[in-house]
Parts: sequence; structure tokens; C-alpha cells
Amino acid sequence: MRASTFPLASALTLFLLLALWACSGASEREPEPASAPRAAPSAQQPAPSAAAGAAAKTQDTSMASQRSKSGYDIAPLPRAKVTELAKNLPPEVYRVTQKAGTEPAFCGDLVDNHKQGTYLCVVCGLPLFSSEAKFDSGTGWPSFFQPFDPAHIEERSDVAYGMKRTEILCVRCTAHLGHVFEDGPRPTGLRYCLNSASLRFLENGAALPAESRPAAASASAPQTEVAYFAGGCFWGIEHYFQLGQGVISAESGYMQGRVEKPSYKQVCDGSTGHAEAVKVVFDPSQISYQRLLEAFFVMHDPTQLNRQGPDHGDQYRSGIYTTSAEQERAARAAIEQLAKSARYGSRKIVTEVEPAKTFWPAEDYHQDYIEKTGRACHVSNPWTEQVEAK
Ligand SMILES: [Zn+2]
Repeated sequence: MRASTFPLASALTLFLLLALWACSGASEREPEPASAPRAAPSAQQPAPSAAAGAAAKTQDTSMASQRSKSGYDIAPLPRAKVTELAKNLPPEVYRVTQKAGTEPAFCGDLVDNHKQGTYLCVVCGLPLFSSEAKFDSGTGWPSFFQPFDPAHIEERSDVAYGMKRTEILCVRCTAHLGHVFEDGPRPTGLRYCLNSASLRFLENGAALPAESRPAAASASAPQTEVAYFAGGCFWGIEHYFQLGQGVISAESGYMQGRVEKPSYKQVCDGSTGHAEAVKVVFDPSQISYQRLLEAFFVMHDPTQLNRQGPDHGDQYRSGIYTTSAEQERAARAAIEQLAKSARYGSRKIVTEVEPAKTFWPAEDYHQDYIEKTGRACHVSNPWTEQVEAK
């Protein structure tokens, strides 16, 4: 339990709750810690406050993997390294990240940032949040409904100011980031409430600094690439992409539409312009984009305009949404080649190829739908040989 465990008994507590709601508490309201500042303990050590440390979800870093699922080195930095990095921080950034400070609401420079890109830890550069999960919470602090990778965020119980909250920290350098609450929007219901001062924003297309890239493939970490496909109802497309060897994850969502954070109902009504799409994260050293394209064309019928099997409507259109010029070239070449082949006879391929716009994850109950329900679907298995060989 997170936000819902606030004590609500007394008027005083209620006042505190209102005053400090969200990651609230402008600097003047925040008493400095009585003891020495909380200067970036290593992740193996419990939090300095015994009360906070007791219930905290501490990171088992000794035996656990030092590599996140998205391929980043998340081994805790040595204390000396953190101290060195922290030395160069502007005073306000130092106060927030190293002393668990909070910036005043509506004052951070990332609250109203609507650009597409990645939010990095301002201290060590680890990617922490993506613009895909950012939403306007109205609190005055940058808010996200999910992290870039859950393994990049450490959670600790925080009982300061007579409240029970969950502090969030960078898992690699233990920079204080903010708090997480259980009153967020779909699909997670979580609200990660951040300080702008804890983050560095990097717009899509900008070169990532070395410390913000996945660990080298030679060190057994997968280099990942993202591909997006729309082939009718996303349940089956997601299910079969997930089975591909070298596919790290497949997720159902909505893309290429006109409104933000569409719901399934809105998309079904056909008024938002979104396609049901699947986000595929894959390791290109194990499976090529070309192979994903081939699988995509086995799974669905690219000659059906704005429908697929029993489903009708432009949300069921066939589409490939590219994340690079190479992907776009490969997608167009694949379609051209298929068009020349005899596979579809005289029927025209209607698959659209467009640069990927924002991917909005679908509601939880749509994720892993085939697996959870055991339901069959009209999608053909593109990995038949591979699956049988297992
Ligand atoms: Zn960090």
C-alpha cells in the first residue's frame, strides 16, 4: 500500500496531508535532516533512518543481475564515484538529488515539457522515464505512469512528516527523484511524481551520452531496438510476436491517432484515428527487423483495407510504424517485394508505412490477453518451424 495508508485521524494530519500531497513541500517547509545529510548511500546499505529503512524495499544487488531487462548496466556506482559526480551539480540539483529535497511546485522546467524523448538521471545518466508515459497531473511536478524500466527505480518507504510515502531513487546512483503514489491514470494506476531538478531530458534523435546507452553487447547485454506493427486486433499480434526468439517484449497499444491517452472505448468508437498496434522490443543480434517484417506479413492479411478477419474499422488497419530511416527502407522494400510476388494474386497491399508517433499502452486487461484467457484468434503463427523445434 502506498498513498492510501496515510493516517487520517486528526485535523493536523489532514492539514499536513494537504500541504504535502504529491511530492509536495516547497523548500521552506522542509526541515533539514537532523543528522548528517543523506549523501547517496550505496544501494546495498539500508537507508540511514532506521524507521525508513525497516519497511523499505531494498535492492538485493549482491546476487541480483546487474543488467536491467532493457539492457542497461544498473550496478550501484561506488560511493566515491557518486561523490565526484555530485560535486559538479548546481546547488539546487545537489539539494534535491543528494539531500532528498523537493523543488517548489510549478517551478521545474520539465513540468510542461511535451517533447518526445527520454528523461535521464541528472547525476548518472541512467534512462528513468519516457515521454510515452508522461501525463499532466496538475500537481506542478513532472508526472509519469510508469518508469522506463522498473529495475531502474529503487523504492524506499518514507515516513517523514508523519506520512507514509514511497520515495523513488535512481537505482544506479541513489539520487533522490521524488515519490510514487497509487492515484495515477491507466494503465498502471501509478503516479511517479518527479522533481525536474532530478532529470535531464534528451529529445528523440539527439545523441545519447555513453552513460545513457545500453551496456555493450559484448558484455552479454542485449542491444535493443523497437518496432511497431498494426495488423488488426492486437491480442494475437502481440501474442505471436512475444514468441519470437530474440523478442524481449511485446505490448499492445494505440498509435498514429489524434488524441492523447486514448481509451479502448474511444479507439473502438473510431473517432480518434488510432490503430491497434503492438510495440516490439527486440535484440537485433538475435532476430533481425527483416525477420519481424516477414512474421508480420504471415500473421495478418495486408490486402484487407481497414479490417482484419472479423474486425472492421480503421483501428484495424495494417500499418508499420518505423523508428529509423533503416526501418522505413526495409519496410518499403519488403512491401515492394511482396507486391511483385504471386502471394496475393491481383490484390493490392494496403499496409501503411509511417514514422512512429506516440505509442499509448493499452489497458492492462489487453496485455497478454491470449495467454491469460487461452482464447484462440485468427492470427497465423509465423514461427511454426521455430516453435516446433523448441
Ligand atoms: Zn542516477
